[in-house]
Amino acid sequence: MHRNRHTKIVATLGPASSSIDIISTLFERGVDVFRLNFSHGNHETHAQNIHWIRQIEKNLNKPISILADLQGPKLRVGKFSSPPINITAGQKFIFDLNPEEGNQERVQLPHPEIFQAAKKGDELLVDDGKLAFRVDHVDHSTIKTTALVSGPISNNKGLNLPSTHLPIDILTEKDKADLEFALSKNVDFIALSFVQTSDDIIQTRKRIHTNTKIIAKLEKPQAIQNLTAILNETDAVMIARGDLGVELPPEQLPPLQRKILREAKKHKKPVIVATQMLESMINTPKPTRAEASDVATAVYLGTDAVMLSAESASGAYPKEAVEIMDRIIFHAEQDILSSKTNMAPLAAKVSNAAVLLAHEHNAKVILAISNSFHAFAYLSSIKTHIPVLALTSDMSVYRQLPLLYGVFPLFNLSLPKVNNSLEDKALIHSLTTEAGMLTHNGQRVVVLTQNSLDSADFSGMWVCE
Ligand code: PGA
Ligand code: MN
Repeated sequence: MHRNRHTKIVATLGPASSSIDIISTLFERGVDVFRLNFSHGNHETHAQNIHWIRQIEKNLNKPISILADLQGPKLRVGKFSSPPINITAGQKFIFDLNPEEGNQERVQLPHPEIFQAAKKGDELLVDDGKLAFRVDHVDHSTIKTTALVSGPISNNKGLNLPSTHLPIDILTEKDKADLEFALSKNVDFIALSFVQTSDDIIQTRKRIHTNTKIIAKLEKPQAIQNLTAILNETDAVMIARGDLGVELPPEQLPPLQRKILREAKKHKKPVIVATQMLESMINTPKPTRAEASDVATAVYLGTDAVMLSAESASGAYPKEAVEIMDRIIFHAEQDILSSKTNMAPLAAKVSNAAVLLAHEHNAKVILAISNSFHAFAYLSSIKTHIPVLALTSDMSVYRQLPLLYGVFPLFNLSLPKVNNSLEDKALIHSLTTEAGMLTHNGQRVVVLTQNSLDSADFSGMWVCE
């Protein structure tokens, strides 16, 4: 099974996809990274899915990335005595610390920090922004508001406070337990929800003593303000358009998506574009035209991966969603290929030079040998249409490679120290041919090697004919 595209697919597992047969089919139809959503399920169900994925990985001898997505400090209102309560635009409503059940006038907001952070004039959004309240007055235990729209409010609905930096820890007690569990299961990536500053990543990394990489979910305006610092600290980012679209007006999302992709590329950090990509496929076997266009746009903008959420976790058509996503990506990439005339100017790093060399010599494949995720991420960020065959002897890196654009992972416990010699040419030919990258005699391979296998860029390269 050799995928014919460079952009990768992340699919969320859930009730609609938690069986070894479905996971196996989803992988065969194109999933590169499986996402476990710790806002749902429990350790038992996640452990079961991890076990199945590793079993499929072993049976097929292909790496599969596992991403554990932590719930993070999601704010929620308390419960009501007779839900739902119908809010009328213009009415007064109070959020407070009183644990008693709520009514038409008030409800608990069990997050004391919010009462320090909220200010008069802020907007409180409830239930993915379906309800909005303007803050009129705040003290240490009550927030008095005026409702801006009418609609029902019920138990434990999510609450967003877009205009304010929240003085809360990036990891809740639940997140800490989930993180420890995920690390004990040797997942490849941890996704951090509601990141606000680069310090959130630094603090989390202190708890990670494995090679597991961090994906910062960009879903708050504060993360956008601190984008450069976050990109410096994180290993990858997710454009989490679900919550980002609650916190910001919809017209701001497309330019922001483009900006994040541009900045992340500068920092050589992979990007996942997430949420509502094929939303209508939760209920119907075909996407809307707008959804097909959304997936293609992310590909045209050079994302590393696109993600399925409810479409694969709880929808009626998880297999169809993966299959269609795979086809949309393929066609967009073919289109890019047919219209590509010249390459953007590149700096003189070895990876960049190797890509130029590969173009110059019409190479079929770039064989890169390293044990550094960052070295491969750097090479991948150049976004050449020439596939990168990534040879590593580090199992944890091998399992992280499925996220990277245009990277085809290859594992070998003993990495050959290849030189530009005759025997090595034979070896390089057999490696690339076995991987299905070479089809005829005389096709060229650009080889990238390192003096130190853990260095973040490559140090040597040559053309192998
Ligand atoms: P979630 O994150 O699905 O965990 O909320 C993604 C998003 O907000 O888009
Ligand atoms: Mn989110």
